[in-house]
Amino acid sequence: MIPQRLVIVGGVAGGASAAARARRLCESCEITILERGPHVSFANCGLPYFVGGEIVRQDDLLLQTPASLRARFNLDVRVRSEVTSIDRVNRTVHVRDLAAGTEYDLPYDNLILSTGAAPLLPPIPGIERAGHFTVHTVPDVERIRAWIRDCKACHAVIVGGGFIGLEMAEQLVRHGGLGVQLVQSLPQVMGPLDPEMAAWLHRELEGHGVELFLGNPVAAFEDPRPGESARASVVVLADGRRLPADTVVLSLGVRPRVQLARDAGLEIGSRGGIRVSEHLQTSDPNIWAVGDAIEVRDAITGAWSLLALAGPANRQGRLVADNLFGRPAPFKGCWGTSILRVFDLTAGCTGANEKTLRAAGIPHQALHLHPGSHAGYYPGAEPIALKILFAPDTGRLLGAQAVGRDGVDKRLDVLATALQAGMTVDGLAGLELAYAPPFGSAKDPVNLVGMAAQNVRNGEVLTAQWSEVPQYAPPDAMILDVRRREERDKGFIPGSVSIPLDELRSRLGELPKEREILVSCQTGQRAYFACRLLSQHGFRVRNLSGAWRTWDAATRGGRGH
Ligand code: FAD
Repeated sequence: MIPQRLVIVGGVAGGASAAARARRLCESCEITILERGPHVSFANCGLPYFVGGEIVRQDDLLLQTPASLRARFNLDVRVRSEVTSIDRVNRTVHVRDLAAGTEYDLPYDNLILSTGAAPLLPPIPGIERAGHFTVHTVPDVERIRAWIRDCKACHAVIVGGGFIGLEMAEQLVRHGGLGVQLVQSLPQVMGPLDPEMAAWLHRELEGHGVELFLGNPVAAFEDPRPGESARASVVVLADGRRLPADTVVLSLGVRPRVQLARDAGLEIGSRGGIRVSEHLQTSDPNIWAVGDAIEVRDAITGAWSLLALAGPANRQGRLVADNLFGRPAPFKGCWGTSILRVFDLTAGCTGANEKTLRAAGIPHQALHLHPGSHAGYYPGAEPIALKILFAPDTGRLLGAQAVGRDGVDKRLDVLATALQAGMTVDGLAGLELAYAPPFGSAKDPVNLVGMAAQNVRNGEVLTAQWSEVPQYAPPDAMILDVRRREERDKGFIPGSVSIPLDELRSRLGELPKEREILVSCQTGQRAYFACRLLSQHGFRVRNLSGAWRTWDAATRGGRGH
């Protein structure tokens, strides 16, 4: 039956998408959006850039207003209207009008929950002091801007090194002119990346003056002691270090907002999100849920997981309306495709990372490459640190990560598409992609990574990972560096022996046949050539995946205090 009264709780990414799609499918329905905050359909993803001033006008963050949604879609949008409970038997929601101070019940035939996620605020002593901010709503960023407006030589401590923490670090340094320290309880920033890929971000942050404190959780926020100057508080780390802060940005992650659903007796999943069917229906057939508040299936591991991303929330909003209005379509799961800019670097990932695959016991092979963003002979090419993970038996792509200054977004999106299409590394090698010198190479980085994986799968070359290098130390094995001497002069793996590739054929006698040889170069390509040469001469060889560049970033790249 077509619902005549559709009520939506939460009027931003998922809620507003659902409402607009519902109207396009049903002109006669009553559609009401109830939003607790003062704005609907605002660009949460733009908030850090408004703090830094890159987005200049606050109005640019407000994509729609209640009036514009009424005019275009005939939606009844009620802001400052909090839903406090759901009566599933009588099919009503209880609404508190925060502006008028009144309360009322609103009936529904179908209800969509898009209540989002709330910033995580662990019970750290002093966490709620003045000058501490989360970055979640337009009023949040107005408060931050007001606090730092008149700050001279202001110093910020950012707690949490995920997407929002890193975007805020960039904005506060680059546009706010603040000194920034970033504290992270894990030993790396950007949890979705594997550590050797996150290391590039550590370097970039430190290169722009952001001081990193990694693997060092906050123990407390305290008053300054005599001699300490801090307008907000002193951030005390687990190891006792004290970081005086004029402002503190709390970006410790988010937790799905499920209290309303829980109180109504709807099923909550093991990860703490609202459990929904693949048609986005909760355990009550008249109540649906989308966005950050729900659990989704991880498309690679099959496990329930939480994901706070705008793309899935928007698509689920559209899909839930399709499901309600007679166009049933499943939401198949998430790949976690995400991207971030940190100063001049872009970093992103899609699918599973190595940490997840290991924890899930899924067999995988990792491969690192550092191809140029476009043809090397055309000016301005930049290396892209590219990592793929694939199934050793079938060659199916399981995940990809990329970090670089140019061309990262395009490769990531190609790899995300390939992943979602269930492609194998053979498919990557064979993809026909657009090429002219300013844009790519005749063998695009995506082709190259597929070809390199084919070489591994068909046994042409064995690889070893950066973390396995100590196993190849002499005297049991040997590490061979085939770069030119001037490259090696800038740094090398301790204990490695240098024979440049072009001298290798004439110096085979210097190499041991009885020991395994780990071959490295700058990016992995010359080491692969060397491996092919040496294995045909009877040597036991392995190619160091990602070679010097990956090893150097992983072991020596900015690692904080
Ligand atoms: P939201 O968009 O958060 O909307 C939920 C709404 O529900 C809120 O406005 C809330 O007030 C309202 N609500 C909750 N409970 C009630 C109630 N009881 N009654 C009435 N109203 C209620 N994602 C990306 O993919 N890329 C990015 O670059 C990116 N950047 C981000 C930057 C920031 C600073 C933030 C905060 C998020 C960012 N995200 C990004 C995440 C993205 O914004 C979210 O995944 C997306 O908005 C989730 O949509 P949603 O509809 O589930 O929740």
